[in-house]
Amino acid sequence: MKLKFTNLMLIGALCLSANAFAIEGGKPVKGKSPNDPPKKFIDPANMNTAVKPGDNFFDYANGNWIKTNAIPAKETRWGSFNILRQNNTDKLLKLLAEVSSTPGQAKGSLKQRVGDLYASGMDSVTIEKKGYTPIMPELARIDKISNLDDVINELVYERVNGIGNPLFGFGVGPDSKHIEKYIVSLRQGGTSLPDRDNYLKDDARSKKIQNALKTYITTLFTLTGTNADVAAKNAATIYELEKSLAKSQMSRVAQRDPNVTYNKFSVADFSKTTPHLNWVKLLPMLKVTGQDTLLVGQPAFFKDADALLAATSVEDWKTYLKWNVLQGSASVLSSPFVKASFVYNSALSGQQTQTPRNERLSGQIDGTLGELLGQLYVEKYFTPAAKQYMVNLVNNLKITLGERIKNLDWMSDVTKARALKKLAAFRVKIGYPDKWETYAGLDIERGDYYGNLKRISKWRYNFNVTRLGKPVDRNRFGMTPPTVNASYSPNNNDITFPAGILQFPFFDFGADDAVNYGGIGAVIGHEMTHGFDDQGRQFDADGTLRDWWTKDDADKFKVRADQVVNQYNAFTVLDTMHVNGRLTLGENLADLGGLNVAYQAFKKTKQGQSTTKTDGFTPDQRFFLSWAQVWRGSQRPEAAAQRILTDPHSPEEFRTNAPITNMDAWYSAFSIQPGDKLYKKPEERIRVW
Ligand SMILES: [Zn+2]
Repeated sequence: MKLKFTNLMLIGALCLSANAFAIEGGKPVKGKSPNDPPKKFIDPANMNTAVKPGDNFFDYANGNWIKTNAIPAKETRWGSFNILRQNNTDKLLKLLAEVSSTPGQAKGSLKQRVGDLYASGMDSVTIEKKGYTPIMPELARIDKISNLDDVINELVYERVNGIGNPLFGFGVGPDSKHIEKYIVSLRQGGTSLPDRDNYLKDDARSKKIQNALKTYITTLFTLTGTNADVAAKNAATIYELEKSLAKSQMSRVAQRDPNVTYNKFSVADFSKTTPHLNWVKLLPMLKVTGQDTLLVGQPAFFKDADALLAATSVEDWKTYLKWNVLQGSASVLSSPFVKASFVYNSALSGQQTQTPRNERLSGQIDGTLGELLGQLYVEKYFTPAAKQYMVNLVNNLKITLGERIKNLDWMSDVTKARALKKLAAFRVKIGYPDKWETYAGLDIERGDYYGNLKRISKWRYNFNVTRLGKPVDRNRFGMTPPTVNASYSPNNNDITFPAGILQFPFFDFGADDAVNYGGIGAVIGHEMTHGFDDQGRQFDADGTLRDWWTKDDADKFKVRADQVVNQYNAFTVLDTMHVNGRLTLGENLADLGGLNVAYQAFKKTKQGQSTTKTDGFTPDQRFFLSWAQVWRGSQRPEAAAQRILTDPHSPEEFRTNAPITNMDAWYSAFSIQPGDKLYKKPEERIRVW
C-alpha cells in the first residue's frame, strides 16, 4: 500500500530537496572520534583543481569526490543528502532492531507499535505465505460492482478505509484565505506516472516509461490470476483512462500560482459542475459533516473526470479500481509483486538493485509512525546544544535579511514595511515537535503487515477529517525528526529544520563559521527566502493568501524573477533537456536569496572579517566551497530526466553554479575574470532579495 498522506498541505512544504522520505543508501559519513586526525571541513582531496573555479565551480569544488564516490546500485542519486540519509537509516535500523526484539512491550505503547510494525514487515515467511490474500477482499468487492453508483461508492470506500485514492485527490488543510479554519480540498489526480507529460509526450524516453507502466499493469493482473491476454487488454484500458485524466490535468507550472488553485465553491454549486459526483451526498459518506464550502484545486479536471465517469463502461472502471488496489499494495505483498514494483520503478529512476527490506521498512516507518520512531531517534542522537546553536544562527540571519530588505533599491517603503512585518512574524521549528503525535487508537499487530499499513492509512484519514471544525494547529511539525531536509510553510509562515539536517556537511560544532554559514546558514536563508519567492510572497504575515504588494513593486519583482527564469532556462542536462526556469523559480530565488543572506551574516563574524587562511583557503573561499560541497553528488540519467519534469529544484550543479555568478563576493574570492565560462558582467548580475 502506498501510504499517501491525505493531508494535502495546500501549497506544501517547499523543501530544500526532494524525496524527504526516500530511503537512500551507501557508505556512512565518517564521524569524529578522539583518535581521528583533525577533520578537514573543506578537503582539497575532494576538489578537481584541473578545472578553473570560474569555468565550473561545482566541478572545481567536487570533481574528485564525485569521481571517487560512484552511485551505489541501490541508489538513484549519491551526494551529501544521501549519505546523511544513509547514516540516519543505519541509526534507525539499530533502534528498530532493538525495539522489535524486546518482548513483552505493553500493548499500545510506543515501543510495541514501532517494534511490531517493523517485525511485521520483516516477517518475510508470513508475507510470502500470504501471497496476495490480504487484498483478495478488496478485489472481490470490486468484482461485485454492477453500476456507476457502485463505482462512485467504491471511490469513497477506498479512501475512508485506507486502501487508496483513486480518480482524484481529497484532503483537509488550512483555508489559505481564512487561515484559522480547516477546509476540505479536492485536487486533480487519478494517474500513476509522476507527471502528465509522461503520458502526453511521445519521445523515446516517454515511450519507454509508458511501456514500463503497461508491463507493470499486465504483470500485476497476471499475478492475481488474470489470463495473459485479458491482463494485456486491461493494461491498454487503464493506460487510456489515465491518459485522458492526464490531458485534463493542469501543468505543474500553472499550479505554482496559489490563486489559480484556490477555487472556493459552495458544496451545492460545485456539485452542479459534476452531475455524477453529488458532493452534497458524498461528503457525509467521506465522514465530512458541517461543511458548506470546499476548495477545488483544478475545477476543469473535475468537470472532465465527471464526464469520463459517465462515458466509460462500468467494466472499465472496475478494471481501473482493481489496478488502484494492486499498485497501492504491490510493494508490501509477496516477492513477485515486490519485484514487479521494483522493475517498474527502476524504469523511471534507473535504480539497479532493490533497496534491502530493512531499509525500505525504516523509511516506511519514518513515513507512517514518524513521531513515535522520531522520539527514539531524538532521545539518542539529538543534542540540545545543536538546537541552541541553530536558534542563534537563525536570529543572526533573520536580522540580516531584515537589513537587506531595508536596503533594497527596487522596493518602496510601503511594501518594505509589510515585508519586514512578515519577516518578524516568522516562526522557527528546530529538531523535533514540542508535542508528539500519539496516534491514539491505532492498533499495530505483529503478524499483520498489510493490515497494519491499512489501519495506519485509515487512522491518518480519520485524523484529517476530524480536524474539520477545530482551530488550525500551527504547532505541528511538517517533517519527521530524522529527515535530512528543511522547509517553509506559507500557510504557517514558519520554517522547519528537523534534527536530521543538523550534521556535517551542513553543520558541525567543530567547523569554522565559513563552513557553517555556507552550509546550514545558506539553508536557513533559503527557507526564509521562500517566504518571499514567487509563491511565498503572495501570503502575508499570518499565512493568509492576500496581496500585500503595491502594483509597482510587484511589477519590479516580476522583472527580477524573469531574469532568474531566463538564467536557469539556459541550462541543459543530458545534452538536450532544459531546466524549466518557471517550475524551479521558487527554489532558485530561495537559493540566490539564501546564499546572499548567509554571506552577509557571515561577514559579521570574526572569521568573516579576517583574511586568515585555513587549510589553504581564505574565509570567503571556504564559505563558497562549503555551499558547493552541500550539493556535491551525481545521479542516474533516468532520475535526472524525470526530475526535470517533476522536481521544483534545479539539478545540483546549477544550484551550486548559478547563484554565485550573481554575487560580487564570489568573483573577488576566486579572482573570476571575463572569459571564464561562468563570468557575468556586473550589470548582468541578478539581485532580488
Ligand atoms: Zn526550497
